[in-house]
Amino acid sequence: MHELSMCESMLKTLAAEYERSQAGKKGSRAARVIRVRIVMGQIHQIVTESFLLAWEALTPGTAFEGAALELKKIPLAVHCRTCGWEGEIEAPFFLCGRCGRGAVETISGNELYIEDMEIADDEPEGI
Ligand SMILES: [Zn+2]
Repeated sequence: MHELSMCESMLKTLAAEYERSQAGKKGSRAARVIRVRIVMGQIHQIVTESFLLAWEALTPGTAFEGAALELKKIPLAVHCRTCGWEGEIEAPFFLCGRCGRGAVETISGNELYIEDMEIADDEPEGI
């Protein structure tokens, strides 16, 4: 499953980010991650539902357990070198929306990165 391996490598990156953010905080309890936002271009053809399932399967027992995951999809847009057309297309067919030629270059839709990660800094105070 494409989404599962994608989610696994995303979590590796997230875990490294998380470790970095916690490195300077000595003595405090392990902070929980509340929210993660990931930006994904349509070129990666990620099925949101499958990715969320993978996330639910992989996060229990980690700092990301229970964190809200938001996927932001970026449409795949191209520029046609033949006729100059620019617009959104559907992966995996890289053809111009006007002239139908394949000489197109990607303008957007390649993205794959972590936009934001919210971490609960406050330790629970004996409640
Ligand atoms: Zn064209």
